[in-house]
Amino acid sequence: MDGEAMKILIVGGVAGGASAAARARRLSEDAEIILFERGNDVSFANCGLPYYVGETIPKRQSLLVTTPERLRTRFRIDVRVRSTVTRIDPVAKAVRVRESGSGREYDESYDVLLLAPGAAPLKPPVPGIDSPRVLTLRNLDDVDRIKGLVDAAVAKTGGRVVVVGAGFIGLELAENLVHRKLETTVVELQQQVLPPLDPEMTSPIVEALRSHGVRVLLGDSAAGFAEGAGGVGVTLASGTSLEADLVILGVGVRPESRLASEAGLAVGPRGGIRVSASMQTSDPSIYAVGDAIEVVDFVTGAAAQVPLAGPANRQGRIAADAIFGRASRYRGTQGTAIVGVFDSVAAITGASEKVLRREGRAYRKVYVHPASHAGYYPGAEPMALKLLFCPESGRILGAQAVGGAGVDKRIDVIAVAIQAGMTVYDLEEMELTYAPQFGSAKDPVNMAGFVAAGLLRGDHPQADFEEILAWESPGGPPAGSILLDVRTPEEFAQGHVPGAVNIPVDELRGRLGEIPVDARIFCYCQVGQRGYLATRILLQRGFTAVNLGGGFKTYRLHRP
Ligand SMILES: Cc1cc2nc3c(=O)[nH]c(=O)nc-3n(C[C@H](O)[C@H](O)[C@H](O)COP(=O)(O)OP(=O)(O)OC[C@H]3O[C@@H](n4cnc5c(N)ncnc54)[C@H](O)[C@@H]3O)c2cc1C
Repeated sequence: MDGEAMKILIVGGVAGGASAAARARRLSEDAEIILFERGNDVSFANCGLPYYVGETIPKRQSLLVTTPERLRTRFRIDVRVRSTVTRIDPVAKAVRVRESGSGREYDESYDVLLLAPGAAPLKPPVPGIDSPRVLTLRNLDDVDRIKGLVDAAVAKTGGRVVVVGAGFIGLELAENLVHRKLETTVVELQQQVLPPLDPEMTSPIVEALRSHGVRVLLGDSAAGFAEGAGGVGVTLASGTSLEADLVILGVGVRPESRLASEAGLAVGPRGGIRVSASMQTSDPSIYAVGDAIEVVDFVTGAAAQVPLAGPANRQGRIAADAIFGRASRYRGTQGTAIVGVFDSVAAITGASEKVLRREGRAYRKVYVHPASHAGYYPGAEPMALKLLFCPESGRILGAQAVGGAGVDKRIDVIAVAIQAGMTVYDLEEMELTYAPQFGSAKDPVNMAGFVAAGLLRGDHPQADFEEILAWESPGGPPAGSILLDVRTPEEFAQGHVPGAVNIPVDELRGRLGEIPVDARIFCYCQVGQRGYLATRILLQRGFTAVNLGGGFKTYRLHRP
């Protein structure tokens, strides 16, 4: 069907829905486009909400990326706010709409229906969960409620907040609550914060939280809430009791797919609406985008739920293209994400080690610990960069970085490399911007490529620290193995892996006689470079040696 007579209904007016509506109008001046939004606002900045709580974004107005009026005047979209779509009749090709103010109900027919209803915050079924002081954050109404209670807590002395869930939103909230000078506790069920990342990559973030006064309770969960005079008591599964002025839950989201499933559309086991690469559902007249859909993981090919703004916006665009017969196709979701926690930054793209292990995929990994820019130029900040890749082809499977400045740039470069199907050998060759205040002649991305490619070429026999960590419980290396710290005695004295012996790399050639010839030697230095040289010396002298990838700094990620 061409745009002339087409009537498009859109359910949900924020990231995916508003993008689709604007794109549809750019593609057809003639289509009739009606956008239904349950709430009061369209196209608001969900991602800015935590920063409004913290008053980094001082004006509520700034959160309104666009307004219904603007969508009407600029895009001639019939925007109907406070209008909930309650039912889809796919046979009659019509939806039932309920207006929240008047309660009026009516049917609206469509040629094409696009679902962009997003995902709702999860509320675990524990006693007291519906207390007005236990809140979730999704939209402007939520943020108004949270800000009201936060402002009241700030106004008294000793205001306290408990954040349940240490995902991206939970940690952004924690930072912003500290900005408001509130005593903040974060409770997380898992033994790590930021569950999409691998645990060791999150330890600097826990350190950042704690050094800014946030109490971080890992491996615990909220078992119940009890409202008291002017506050709420939180009982944790461990038995710990906390008192707070308010609790904010950030424990994940659930796709809003009820409309779709009731209409008989295919829905995945985790509730995401099933769509094709052109965002078409199992009904050819109905498209779906955003947090409500099931996506294909770009790296593993598995079905996944990945609630992120970038994918939702792109999917909205692709759906509009597809509706008007353009050949746009969604390539899958890489899960590229970033979070700032005080001065620290953590970012991820592609598959984590956890996911690769769970999926039974073969992989290798390297860690590098470069500076954000040339070390001799003031202000360089350290970062840890982890790269996961295929042991046969060298294809990049995922990357994570934690540090400060420059983390975003490196993960973005690697995100592009993953999408282009590149290998670690391509990272070696990448030509990236360099002047001392921006990077290094060997950029961290190149460095990760050098180390990974060296490993695959066999130049660089490497063991992972996990092997050493397994020794720790019985204590020290097993018989026949030696843990060799090749840093200086001063560095060794400042901290070393339990059971290690210290022979600095510069003395190694003269002290080979101290090492049993038949031992398996695990070398390490601070970041991996001296350990690599020591390994090369030992191998050429007939010893059996491997380097512990990423050195003592990587050990410290595992054992902060
Ligand atoms: C606090 C917060 C911070 C975030 N920060 C980031 C970030 O930094 N980076 C990032 O990538 N992502 C972030 N996200 C996630 C990102 O906002 C979402 O992935 C994105 O908004 C999803 O877009 P969507 O269109 O699918 O859903 P939404 O943006 O949630 O929009 C769906 C809309 O549909 C409406 N709706 C639902 N059902 C109906 C119905 N039956 N009838 C009418 N209307 C309906 C809802 O009211 C809602 O307004 C954040 C989310 C939150 C809540």
